[in-house]
Amino acid sequence: MRVELLCTGDELVTGLTTDTNSPSLEARLFELGVKVRRVVLVGDVREDITQALREAATRADVVIVSGGLGPTADDFTAECAAVAAGVPLVEDAGTLQFLRERAAKRGRELTPNVARMARVPEGSEVVPNPVGAAPLFIVRMGGCRLFFLPGVPSEYRALVNGEVLPRVRAELEKRPVRTYRAFRLLHTMGIPESVLDVRVAPLARAHPRVVFGFRTHAPENQLKLMAEAPSQAEAEAALAAAEAAARQELGRAVYGADGDTYHGVLGRLLTEAKATLALAESCTGGLIATQLTGVPGASNFLMGGAVVYTEKMKTAWAGVPESLLARHGAVSRPVAIAMAEGIRAACETTYGLSVTGFAGPTGGTPEEPVGTVYCALAEAGAATRCERFSIPGDRDMVRLFAASNALELLRERLLTVAAP
Ligand code: ATP
Ligand code: MG
Repeated sequence: MRVELLCTGDELVTGLTTDTNSPSLEARLFELGVKVRRVVLVGDVREDITQALREAATRADVVIVSGGLGPTADDFTAECAAVAAGVPLVEDAGTLQFLRERAAKRGRELTPNVARMARVPEGSEVVPNPVGAAPLFIVRMGGCRLFFLPGVPSEYRALVNGEVLPRVRAELEKRPVRTYRAFRLLHTMGIPESVLDVRVAPLARAHPRVVFGFRTHAPENQLKLMAEAPSQAEAEAALAAAEAAARQELGRAVYGADGDTYHGVLGRLLTEAKATLALAESCTGGLIATQLTGVPGASNFLMGGAVVYTEKMKTAWAGVPESLLARHGAVSRPVAIAMAEGIRAACETTYGLSVTGFAGPTGGTPEEPVGTVYCALAEAGAATRCERFSIPGDRDMVRLFAASNALELLRERLLTVAAP
């Protein structure tokens, strides 16, 4: 099935609004086995919209059009649809009644500009809008069906999910040969994209029905698996086999799948372990605390955190001996260890996690240049673990990876405790 999307609106071609309606629809269609052929954006110019409709209708089986159905002067998509289809605009009695009642509920008269939304190309199928005023109307032009939807994202989504996709699915089910797809997104932490690629390459050869894709979403890298087969069951089976192989190859680097988030997964691990955590953050300045408190229920595991940016506060709040700071400097292994142990003692938690480093762009020493970060994890009854990292990139990158490297020490430890 050839599907095209057409979005109208000056805001879409003048840098004011990014088209966010199309990507979600594209993804939903792709799950159904339909790859959108073309996405066209057109400004609010009557001739351009009319011409774009005509052109799309000659190429595609289905065109999904959005925007310009509202009551304002720049909303004239229905007019253009009528011109393109070579039919007049007619008043849809049901829509007019709906608009009148809707206005009455709001204590208003039905104004002529609002009433205009009831005018649709003759012969259209009209479907009420469950969350707004302008209805969806469906127009046939030759062999093509054009769906006209309001541009307002909530209305667009409601009509796409409730009306457009079920119709597309029904149409597809009538067709004899179909491609079925199944997807899995694996989230990895701690493996650079280039390494991921090399390690996964043999799997891709062993699983020819599965397309392996990569996406960097710093600090994590994602592995996208898409299986294609002539039936859904075969697609699911091929996906399951490829996923198992990828998990086997990548081990603990895979922290979750699909909608999982890193900090959500970490929060779950801490909660399951009934463990508590305290933070002593220097160069990350509270970033780790922000990330973890973004997880609902963070109070189950996060007792608190201290931003100990200066030497004075490292001593005052994390109990780092002044002598240690004087001897080794704030960015050093002994200080990271003392921070983790000190904050754990102060907060009486299972774990104490610390970060100290040079985020740049200035600072650093010849031995410990910008990007050097020490992270330490303290717990009762075990030696404090400390690691040194050399993180490339700008200040934001150093801070981002400093936070994730520190949390990786914790995740690794929690997994080991759970399954030694
Ligand atoms: P309305 O009744 O609000 O006038 P409409 O069908 O005329 O609905 P538009 O006027 O084109 O829709 O757009 C309404 C709102 O939705 C605007 O804020 C617009 O920026 C936004 N919008 C329109 N198209 C898109 C799109 N493709 N992606 C994201 N936002 C969009
Ligand atoms: Mg509008």
